[in-house]
Amino acid sequence: MNEKRKQRKQKKHAKVGEPYLVTRAVTHIRLVEVNPGKLAALDALAPVYLALCQQYVTLFCTQERPNKVRAPLYATPLSERWQRVAIMQAVGIARSWRTNRAAAYQQYQDDLARYRKRQEEGTVVASAKAPRWREWHVPTLREPCLQANVNVVKLEVPRDSTYDYWLRISTLEKGQPIQVPVKLAQYHKEQLRDPKTGQPRKLNSSVQLNKRDGVWWLTLSYDEEVTVQTPPDAPVVGIDVGIANFVTTSTGKHYGTMHGKLKERHKRDRAKRRRKAKLRACLQKKGANKLPFTSSRTGQRLIRHVKQAINRAINQCFAEPEHRDMQFAYEALSVASMHFKARSMNAYLKASNLGYIPQQIVWNSQKRGVQATPVIAAYSSQECSMCHYTDRKNRPDQRTFRCQVCGFEAHADTNGSLNISRRIGDTQLRACKDRTAIKAVLMQRHEAWKQQQGMGDTRPVKRRKRGPSSSSLTSL
Ligand SMILES: [Zn+2]
Repeated sequence: MNEKRKQRKQKKHAKVGEPYLVTRAVTHIRLVEVNPGKLAALDALAPVYLALCQQYVTLFCTQERPNKVRAPLYATPLSERWQRVAIMQAVGIARSWRTNRAAAYQQYQDDLARYRKRQEEGTVVASAKAPRWREWHVPTLREPCLQANVNVVKLEVPRDSTYDYWLRISTLEKGQPIQVPVKLAQYHKEQLRDPKTGQPRKLNSSVQLNKRDGVWWLTLSYDEEVTVQTPPDAPVVGIDVGIANFVTTSTGKHYGTMHGKLKERHKRDRAKRRRKAKLRACLQKKGANKLPFTSSRTGQRLIRHVKQAINRAINQCFAEPEHRDMQFAYEALSVASMHFKARSMNAYLKASNLGYIPQQIVWNSQKRGVQATPVIAAYSSQECSMCHYTDRKNRPDQRTFRCQVCGFEAHADTNGSLNISRRIGDTQLRACKDRTAIKAVLMQRHEAWKQQQGMGDTRPVKRRKRGPSSSSLTSL
């Protein structure tokens, strides 16, 4: 298990010229129902599986460390093989939940330490509240998702058939598996053909089955060897992540936004949720047994659409002709610790799924064999990319950057992405223990810049526009 984890880690930091394996998914293969009722056995299995998987998720999040080989604990009509699959899936969910929670808790403790220090020094701003820890909810599984292995779902190649595969799925009835035909679309077939040899690729034995809006979908996967092609001295594109622009690059381009259509949908969804919550509270008061869920189908759909918009934005960014033969630097941002004062803004931030962006950057760089390096994000939005002067006042509003010292003015995200592009290999910043140390280093650099310019004191300079390109100043 540890060995596997190590391998996964190595994959992320593959060196130039070293091949590594990337697992690619072939998604959206619809399971066709030839005979009515054929999938009924699968429909019967799904809720039982979901409930069991949820039990293990709760167990591994709250009481036990996630353990793939844990002995079955709960009574269930599922076969032992299906139980193993449920435990494995729960382990994966619980592990990532625990990692994210631990990171958020660490951030909270750092914030608290900083707050206490300021209290001692008497430098606490009157409006500042003491950081508070809100315990995380255990993940709730809503839609059936079966991450099955060959022990319960087997993919078979027919010798002579109009179908491409047969899926043999074990059911709740022992010794009564169902056989479901799989027909691939032309683009699935192309994806599954190795362009070098023209032969079909070797599929991984594990498959995923999802039920969405009453339809069963199959996801297949295969491993592909990829080599990092980017030379280490390739020019760097810095990526700044945000809500107004999902991705802004130091080349002055913006990709995707949460504003506009997605924002409207988020507003509608939030209003609906609030109405439901009110109703729920009211019913609870009256002692009703059955309470409506506060989560909604539209909410789930919104998450999916936001993620699709992010996928599109990052794909465009990596496919940009201007970014060919370049490497990428992106913020190692911790979204769990980001928060606004206003509750509505926090809900908006959560809906924008910003934490999904770094994941997608990693994935896109891996599949294209392009180098992408996470860098320290601290103060990248407040630092002046011209003179390094770092101050919150450099940001008169959300979208504008205007340096208080040298007068450099640009779109705030573009300025941030310029800083990020320069932080690859910045060992001095990486050696800093906390944000205070980082700010000190940045201000030292500012002093050095002033010396170079022959400036003695900090004198505000007349404003002038010096954006990296004029297009970066116009935002969506
Ligand atoms: Zn400046």
